[in-house]
Amino acid sequence: MIEFMPKKPSKLLFWFKINFKVTKEFHYDVVVVGAGPAGSSSAYMASKNSCKVALLEKEDVVAQSVRTSGVTWIKDMDSFEIPKDCYNPIKNFSFCSPNNVVTISDDIPRAAVLDVRKTYRWLAEQAQSEGTELFTKTNVIDAIKDSDGRIIGVRASTPDGEAVFYGKVFIDASGFGTVVAKSLGYTTKWKRFGVGAEYEVNAENVVQDTWWLMVGQEYSPAGYAWIFPVGGKKVRVGVGIGKPESAVDPTERLNDIIEKKLGPVKDLGKIDKIEFHYGLIPNDGLTRKTVYDNLILVGDSAGQANPLVLEGIRYAIRFGQVAGQVAAKAIGSNDTSEKNLQEYEQVWKEAIQSKITSAGKVQARWIGLSDKEWDKELDIIKELSAEEFLDFIKADFGLSNVVRLATHHPKIAVRQLFNMVKDVVKR
Ligand SMILES: Cc1cc2nc3c(=O)[nH]c(=O)nc-3n(C[C@H](O)[C@H](O)[C@H](O)COP(=O)(O)OP(=O)(O)OC[C@H]3O[C@@H](n4cnc5c(N)ncnc54)[C@H](O)[C@@H]3O)c2cc1C
Repeated sequence: MIEFMPKKPSKLLFWFKINFKVTKEFHYDVVVVGAGPAGSSSAYMASKNSCKVALLEKEDVVAQSVRTSGVTWIKDMDSFEIPKDCYNPIKNFSFCSPNNVVTISDDIPRAAVLDVRKTYRWLAEQAQSEGTELFTKTNVIDAIKDSDGRIIGVRASTPDGEAVFYGKVFIDASGFGTVVAKSLGYTTKWKRFGVGAEYEVNAENVVQDTWWLMVGQEYSPAGYAWIFPVGGKKVRVGVGIGKPESAVDPTERLNDIIEKKLGPVKDLGKIDKIEFHYGLIPNDGLTRKTVYDNLILVGDSAGQANPLVLEGIRYAIRFGQVAGQVAAKAIGSNDTSEKNLQEYEQVWKEAIQSKITSAGKVQARWIGLSDKEWDKELDIIKELSAEEFLDFIKADFGLSNVVRLATHHPKIAVRQLFNMVKDVVKR
C-alpha cells in the first residue's frame, strides 16, 4: 500500500492546518473597505438606510495611526453633529514667509484642529450604533469578480486566516492606496501627491487659538509647514511637500525646522515630542472615475481633497454619507449597476468640482513662488478680511464674493488673485 498521509491523527491535523487554511465567508449588502472618515460615514449611512454593512479596517483599532493634521471647519463639524470636545477651536490665522508675517483675526472661531483619534472613533461608533459590523485587523488584499468582471467580493487576511466578504455594493474608502479599485485594474498610482510628516509635541508656550502656516524654501520647497494647536500644551508641527515637484524628504525637513527653531517654532519654547505622524494625500485633481458596477470610491480613494491646503476630512465625511445613501437606494431597487450608482458621482462633482479646479489654479501659482514673491503674496493676504481669507483657504469661493474682490478691491494685486479663479467659480 502506498502511504500518502501521515499515520498519526495529530500529525494529520497539523498537516491540514499547514496546507489547507479554512477561508471564512461572510455575506453583506454593503462592504466598506477602510474605517477612516469616508468609510465610517459611508457605513453609517448605509446602515441607517437598512443595509447589512461590514466595515473592514486593516489596523488593530480605528485610527491607530494618525495620517492627518486634522484642521477643519466648525460649521462642517456641527453639520455632522461631531461633539465639540473632539476639536480645539481656532480664530487667529497667522502666516509667515521668510521676511513677512500676517495674522488675520476672526471675531469667533470658525476653524478647528481635530483630536483625530477621538473624531474617527466617534464616526466608527456612530456606524456601529446603526448596526454596522466593524472588522478590525482585516486587511483587504484583492477583489473577486463574477464572469462579467463585476466585483462580488473582497478577500482579506485576518488573524484567524483568510476571509472573503461577499456583497452587493462595495465602497472603496481605503484612502491613498485605493486597494479595491486598484486590484480590479480600474485605477493606477497617483501621479501628483503630497507627503506630510508631523510631530505632535508638548510645547512650553502655546497660543491655543492661533495656527501658523509657514511658507518659503526653508520651510517647504513645494508646500508649507504648520503649527496647529490641539488643546492644552499640545501642538502639531509639520511639513507638507508636493511630489513630484520636490525631492525633499518631509521628515528630514521637519527635523531641520525643529532643530533650527525656525520662525514661530522658536516661540514654542521647549518642545517634547510625543508622537510622529506621516501620510500621503492625492493631488491629481478630479481625474478619477468614482463609480463602477457594484463599486463606489470615496474620500482620498476618489481624490476628493482640496489641493490648496490638502484638506479632505470634511469631504470624506460628507461624500461618505452620500455614498452610503446611494448604495442603499441602489440595493433597495435591486439595481447596483454603474448607471444606478451614478447619482453619487453627480452629487459630489456638482458640489466641489469648481472649487477643486479653482484651488488647483491657486496652488499652481503658489507652488512656483520664490521667497521674495511669498513675501509679496503675504502683503496681498493681509488685505483680506477673516471671512475672505477663510473662503480662500477653504476654496469655498462664492461667485458674488469672487467677482466683488476681482473687480472692486482697492488693491490691484488682490484683484489679480481673485481674477485667476473668477472664471471657474460656479455660477
Ligand atoms: C500629512 C497630511 C496632513 C493632512 N492634513 C489635513 C488637515 O489638516 N485637514 C484635512 O481635512 N485633511 C487633511 N489631510 C487629508 C485627510 O487626512 C484625508 O483627506 C482624509 O483622511 C481622507 O479620509 P479617507 O477616509 O478617505 O482616508 P483615510 O483617512 O486614509 O482612511 C483610510 C482607512 O482605510 C484603511 N485601509 C487602507 N488600506 C486598507 C486595506 N487594504 N484593508 C483594510 N483597510 C484599509 C486605513 O487603515 C485607514 O483607516 C491631510 C493628509 C496628509 C497626508
